[in-house]
Amino acid sequence: MNIHRLETQTKQQADCCGSDNLLPIDTAIAKGLALAEPLAGFETVTLYCARGRTIAGDIHARLPLPNFNNSAMDGYAINTAAISGAGPYRLEITGRMAAGDQDTDNDEHIPAGTIRILTGAAVPANYNAVIMQEKVAVDDNHIIFDKCPPVGNNIRPGGEDCQPGDLVIAAGTLLEARHIAMLAAQGISEISVKRKVRVAIFSTGSELRLPGEELKSGQIYNSNRYALACQLDQPFIEIIDLGTIRDDYQLLKETMAAAAEMADIVITTGGVSVGDEDHMPGIVTDLGGKLHVMKVAIKPGKPVTVGTIGKSIFLGLPGNPVAAFVNQILIGRAIIAKLSGQPAKPPASYRAIAQFERRRATSRQEYVPARIVGKDPQGSPVVEAFDKAGSATLLPLACSDGFVVLPVGLAQVSPGDGVEFIPH
Ligand code: AMP
Ligand code: MG
Repeated sequence: MNIHRLETQTKQQADCCGSDNLLPIDTAIAKGLALAEPLAGFETVTLYCARGRTIAGDIHARLPLPNFNNSAMDGYAINTAAISGAGPYRLEITGRMAAGDQDTDNDEHIPAGTIRILTGAAVPANYNAVIMQEKVAVDDNHIIFDKCPPVGNNIRPGGEDCQPGDLVIAAGTLLEARHIAMLAAQGISEISVKRKVRVAIFSTGSELRLPGEELKSGQIYNSNRYALACQLDQPFIEIIDLGTIRDDYQLLKETMAAAAEMADIVITTGGVSVGDEDHMPGIVTDLGGKLHVMKVAIKPGKPVTVGTIGKSIFLGLPGNPVAAFVNQILIGRAIIAKLSGQPAKPPASYRAIAQFERRRATSRQEYVPARIVGKDPQGSPVVEAFDKAGSATLLPLACSDGFVVLPVGLAQVSPGDGVEFIPH
C-alpha cells in the first residue's frame, strides 16, 4: 500500500469512527443504511413467483372478503322470522345449497321451511341464520331443533374481513405465503415487485481452496463463500458470485472494480484487518470510493468495513467465519433489505433465560453462539452459550440456534439472567 493511500485511509478512519476508532454496532448499521437508497426498478411476476419478493406498491382490496354471505357450518339455513312460540320446532327441508352453487332465486318472501346448507355455500338472501347439523334431528325430510338461533348465526357476512379499497398489503412488504393468500383471494394473478438486489460476492485469501480440491500445507477450505451464499439465497436477491481471489492487490482491485460496476452492493470476506495482506480498505479508496465504517465495537467482527465505490455499496466482512456470519446478519441483511425497499426492522430477537455463566471484560457488544435447551417454568426459552466460541470456531456456530447478545458494560451473566437471543 502506498503512503498516500495509507494516509487517506487513516484520515477516513478517524472521520468515520471517532477517536477510539470503534463504532457502536447500531451506529455502524445506521451509517450503512444511510448509504442505501431503495432501488427504483420493478418487474411483474406471477403469483407463483412472488414469494420472497418485495412488493412495489400498496395493494388495496378489489373485492369484499368474503364476497358474499356464506355459511360457516354444515347445517340448515332458516329465517328466524318464520319461527314463533316455544320450541321444539319442526321445519320442512325444501332445498339444498353446497359451496359453489349459485343463488339464483332472489326470493324475498320469508321461507317457512329450511334448506340444507354446506360450509362455504352462499346463504340465500331470504335466510338469516344457519343451525349446525349437530344441533338438529332429521325426521322424514324435516328438521327438529329446540332453540331458535340469533339472526346471523353461523353466517360469515360479505365484507366482514375486508372491504373494497382497504389497504391489504403495504408497499415494501416482503411477500410470504400469507400475503400471497390475500393476493389470490383478491383474484390478483400478477404483481409488480421490486427488481432483485444485485449482490456481488467474493472471498479474499491466498490460503483458500474450494471443497473438493486438494489442500496443501497452509491452505484451508473456503467456508465463507458457501455460508454467505446461503445467507443471501433469497428470492429478492440476485447473487453474482465472483469466487475466490488470492491476496494480490491488483487482482483484488480489478475484481472489486468489476463487482462495483455490476452490483448494487459488493460483499467480500477477509482482508479488512490490519495485516500486510489486508488490502480491501485501501482498494476502496484507491478506486475513488469512501470508507464510512471501519472498526466496530462488536465481537466477533471488529474489522467489519462499510464504504461506497461509485454507485455501489461495499461491505467488507472479516475473514473469520463467525465474524463474517454475524456481521452479514446484522449489517448486510439490513442494507440489502433497504435497497430492496423493505421497511427497516432489526433482526428478530426475543428474551431468553441464560443457562450459563460468563464473565466479560470487553468494551464490545458480543454475539455468542448459543442453543435453545428447553423452557423454564414460566415458559421462557432457556439458552446455553458455547464456552469456547470464538470468531474462528465453526463448531459452536454449527451447533447453535442463534446468538446471545451481551451488551457493552455487562460484566457478568449468571444462570437465570434474562438475555437477548437472536435466532439465525
Ligand atoms: P483475514 O480477515 O483475511 O485476515 O482472515 C482472518 C482469518 O479468517 C484467517 O485465519 C483466514 O484464513 C480466515 N478466512 C478468511 N477467509 C476465509 C474463508 N473464506 N473461509 C474460511 N476462513 C477464512
Ligand atoms: Mg486474508
